[in-house]
Amino acid sequence: ATPTALMVGTGRGAQLGILIKGPEVLETTRRVDTIVLDKTGTVTTGRMELRDVIAAEGEDEDEVLRLAGALEHASEHPIAQAVAIGAAERVGALPAPEDFANVPGLGVQGIVDGHAVLVGRTRLLEQWAIELPADLARARNDAEAGGRTAIAVAWDGAARAVLEVADAVKPTSAEAITRLRALGLTPILLTGDNRAVAEAVAHEVGIDASGGRVIAEVMPQDKVDVVKRLQDEGRSVAMVGDGVNDAAALAQADLGLAMGTGTDAAIEAGDLTLVRGDLRAAADAIRLARRTLSTIK
Ligand code: ADP
Ligand code: MG
Repeated sequence: ATPTALMVGTGRGAQLGILIKGPEVLETTRRVDTIVLDKTGTVTTGRMELRDVIAAEGEDEDEVLRLAGALEHASEHPIAQAVAIGAAERVGALPAPEDFANVPGLGVQGIVDGHAVLVGRTRLLEQWAIELPADLARARNDAEAGGRTAIAVAWDGAARAVLEVADAVKPTSAEAITRLRALGLTPILLTGDNRAVAEAVAHEVGIDASGGRVIAEVMPQDKVDVVKRLQDEGRSVAMVGDGVNDAAALAQADLGLAMGTGTDAAIEAGDLTLVRGDLRAAADAIRLARRTLSTIK
């Protein structure tokens, strides 16, 4: 009866928009007690928009957008696309950078119109010993307190502006988290984004930020260590993610669930694919797999 039960399980899974790599995956679903959720693109839509530009004293907003937009145009990061599109809408054609590099988890750097430009986290600016002046630090804190991501812009050794970008929590995320909890799983939010933004999103979807359930400001290469640490604590860990950044963590997790709307790297690393990118399918998958197992036994 085993093969039939498995086929029923995977057939129903396909209907629900769940692709399972192999039958051995089912067994794991019984053990998992913790579910790590990537924020951007998993709990949120990942469709970022440029919401505001706050220029430092004496700086021109259009010039900020021209230089920052030009550099971000060369990056595929969701934040970069939001900045490039928002900039192009406002200032028109953007110059091509003379030099460009991605700094994973931090931002971008390069040369535009002869200026050495940085766009990203304040940590990126700190690497070049550039500090935010008080007015920009205040703008950054206000943005983050409101759950928006603050992106700093600097060129030629000075911070020039803060850009606010934000995406929306998916309308199905809160319900998904309620369902995952009902299955006995502890949800943990994991992100490279700022702690204040992460906590605002956690609050919106009903994850209590106390007790280490919001893990923020994690560099892309360190996400896998977060999963390992939880496993070392004796937890059996499921992880849901969509990005290239999530691939190693998805592979490390006892059960890796990839958003079908995400990158190929994530889909290849996962044990399961949630085809429609709806987090509720994570709960469906675990419930269905557990039920399929009890049918076999
Ligand atoms: P997440 O873990 O939420 O998927 P990332 O690890 O990709 O996010 O990025 C972490 C943070 O680094 C972002 O929230 C942003 O502040 C900054 N960052 C990364 N890439 C860029 C970029 N191209 N432009 C501006 N900021 C960036
Ligand atoms: Mg992501």
